[in-house]
Amino acid sequence: MAKTAIITGSSRGIGAAIALRLAKDGMNIAFNDLNMTMFENNDIVDKVKALGVEAEIFCADVSKFDQCEAMVKAVKERFGTIDVLVNNAGITRDGLMARMPEEQYDMVIAVNQKSVFNMTKFVGNVMMRQRSGRIINLASVAGLYGNPGQINYSASKAAIIGMTKTVAKELGARNVTCNAVAPGFIHTPMTDKLTEEQKAAMLAQIAMKRYGEPEEIAGVVSFLASDDASYVTGQVIEISGGISM
Ligand code: NAP
Repeated sequence: MAKTAIITGSSRGIGAAIALRLAKDGMNIAFNDLNMTMFENNDIVDKVKALGVEAEIFCADVSKFDQCEAMVKAVKERFGTIDVLVNNAGITRDGLMARMPEEQYDMVIAVNQKSVFNMTKFVGNVMMRQRSGRIINLASVAGLYGNPGQINYSASKAAIIGMTKTVAKELGARNVTCNAVAPGFIHTPMTDKLTEEQKAAMLAQIAMKRYGEPEEIAGVVSFLASDDASYVTGQVIEISGGISM
C-alpha cells in the first residue's frame, strides 16, 4: 500500500516542492493551505496526480488547534494511514524588536510554532498507534544563529528545534522519528519579499555564493522520509550552502 504524506502550507514554495518530491517517491499527498484560492493559482495538485499517486487538498489554519484535529481526522479517514508529516507552513513578519508590536510577535509564534504542536500532537497519536511514522519540521538558520529583524521568527524556529528533539524522545520507542531541516536562503515567495540590500547581505555570507532552490530542501526531506533514514532521529540538518562556517 502506498504511504501517505501530509505537508502543511503546500500550495507553493518549499511545501509544494516537497509534495512533488514525495509523490515522485510514490507517496499519496494530503495538501494543506489556508484556503482553496491558494491552489487556484498553480498546478501543483495536477502535477502530483500526473505521477499516478492520490492527492487531495485539506484546508485548515494550522495555528488553530481544533482545525488541525479535524484535518488530521479527515486525512486519516481518506487515506487510511498517515506515514509522513511535514510541518512546513510558516510566515515572516519582520521588524526590529524595539519597534515590533505585540500582535506581530504573537502571530508568527502561533503560525510557525504552535502549529507544530497542533499537528504533531494529532498526527503523532495516529503514528504511535501505527507503530511507525516520520515527522519532519521546517526550522531555519535564523533559529540556529539568530537574525536581526526576526526576533519572532527566530524564536519560533529555535523552539521547533527543541520540539523536534522532545518529540524524537517521546515517540522514538514507537518507531516514529522526528527530525528538522534548517534552510538558509531559498528562492521562494517568502524570500522574494526581501530588499535587494538584504539579499546581497545574505549572499555575502554563503560559502557556495548562491541561494538554494526549493528542490534542494525537498531532496533532504525525501531522505528523512525514506527507509535509508530509519535510524536518524532528533537531528537538525542545515541546508544553507554553508552559511554558518
Ligand atoms: P511560502 O512560500 O510563504 O509558503 C508558505 C505557505 O504556508 C504559504 O502557502 C502560506 O500561505 C502557508 N501558510 C501560512 N500560514 C498558514 C497557516 N496558518 N495555515 C496553513 N498554511 C499557512 O514559504 P516558503 O519559503 O516555502 O517556506 C516554507 C517553510 O520553510 C516555512 O516554515 C519557512 O519558515 C521555512 N524556511 C524558508 C526559508 C526560505 O528561504 N524560503 C528559509 C528557512 C526556512 P499564505 O500565503 O496565506 O501565508
